[in-house]
Amino acid sequence: SAALEEPITPPVRVEHTKLLINGEFVDAASGKTFPTVDPRTGQLIANVAEGDTEDVNRAVSAARKAFDEGPWPRMTAYERSKILLRFADLVEKHADEIAALEVWDNGKPYDQATSDEIPLFIRLFRYYAGWADKIHGLTIQADGPHHVETLHEPIGVAGQIIPWNFPLLMYSWKVGPALACGNTVVLKTAEQTPLSALYVSKLFHEAGLPPGVLNIVSGYGPTAGAALASHMDVDKLAFTGSTETGKIILGLAAKSNLKPVTLELGGKSPFIVCEDANVDEAVELAHAALFYNQGQCCCAGSRTFVHERVYDEFIEKAKARASKRVVGDPFKKGVEQGPQVDSEQFNKILRYISSGVESGATLETGGQRFGSNGYYIEPTVFSNVQDDMLIAKDEIFGPVQSILKFKDINEVIQRSNASSFGLAAGVFTQNLDTANTLTRALKAGTVWINCFDVFDAAIPFGGYKMSGHGREKGIYSLNNYLQIKAVVTRLKNPAW
Ligand code: ADP
Repeated sequence: SAALEEPITPPVRVEHTKLLINGEFVDAASGKTFPTVDPRTGQLIANVAEGDTEDVNRAVSAARKAFDEGPWPRMTAYERSKILLRFADLVEKHADEIAALEVWDNGKPYDQATSDEIPLFIRLFRYYAGWADKIHGLTIQADGPHHVETLHEPIGVAGQIIPWNFPLLMYSWKVGPALACGNTVVLKTAEQTPLSALYVSKLFHEAGLPPGVLNIVSGYGPTAGAALASHMDVDKLAFTGSTETGKIILGLAAKSNLKPVTLELGGKSPFIVCEDANVDEAVELAHAALFYNQGQCCCAGSRTFVHERVYDEFIEKAKARASKRVVGDPFKKGVEQGPQVDSEQFNKILRYISSGVESGATLETGGQRFGSNGYYIEPTVFSNVQDDMLIAKDEIFGPVQSILKFKDINEVIQRSNASSFGLAAGVFTQNLDTANTLTRALKAGTVWINCFDVFDAAIPFGGYKMSGHGREKGIYSLNNYLQIKAVVTRLKNPAW
């Protein structure tokens, strides 16, 4: 198998492994480093400076100074917009190296990084560059002799904590709107994937970003992450990661200075295949909805509900499709699935597969480690999954499709919504009434009809229930990074 061959040498060198504070690459105050590992082999890629409380303090004071005294919030919005656009151009120019770093650190297929993640990243910065000079308040009619207006001001220093599944995309969703609104940022990357953020942030400074506006701290969650979440001088916090960590973050924000928090957390999204479905098309879309990015998506369609009328045919075809999925070295052309990000995720997924078997689901295909090196897992399909099984309730975050049978639309609505998550949902039908009913009934931040994983910069994304607070992307993300000030001026002569 491909995974057993010598790993392909990544077409890039690791240049940046230090923290980026106040426009300079610096060592951690402790001098400590941590390893970042190649998921294809479990071998070291590089040792990276390990940020901790003292480094977060340094980064926050750089961001504070850049906000309170620096040019960034004071320059014209058009100037800020031009820097964001220049940055997008530089990323486009270096797209191949950036993609290679992302693949090396994360394990996702190179084809996918270059066709999805990098173009979405660039598009997002161009989208928010377009907003930068269109952010303004209102004049408001109020009772009494007053002129009333609102000022939309940047909120200040934004602390941002991102996960490892889409290191660049998550960077863009956080940094894009924050900077477009004139804020300054301290970003903590995930410990599994620190490399691509350092590379692109260097380019940001080449594009003219003033020092201190964007600071990158690599390091672990309970140390660097917690220090950022509980910092008294951070004005706003945005987090993407697990629901468990989201609860901790919200607590830290509350216990410190009550900074507002945006949370984008876990999911167990239904993908509903209705009775009128073209089964071949439904199988392909349901497959992509689950297996994309090695199944490491917070919005993965991880409960595939299939109408009983098409269920048997669907199972046969879903099994055949998963068995055909091309697993191998993510640098190899045509590979659809690389390794999971690290040994922890790898072991967790294998435990969920065992739990599926033990709880009586039917293992249709896969179920084992793929090859003998690194963190590859066979594309796995379970049928006959019941709602109360762990594999139908927990977020597995791996290439494990759980297929459940349903009889009618009210039943599938009730079962879909019987989850503590509410991030996304997929619906596959040609029937307009069915689509409309499901769209309105499903408790999910996104409903994709006859499509899935559409991540345009203009479309808001976020969750109901324990999938999070707030929305990112689109016009909605601006609110996360603005303070609204009402200004009321008494009119001496209201007649005029
Ligand atoms: P996962 O389990 O998928 O790694 P996490 O929610 O643990 O997801 O991680 C997402 C991000 O949150 C990472 O950057 C991680 O370092 C950070 N993180 C983890 N624990 C904490 C914590 N206690 N405080 C702040 N950040 C944390």
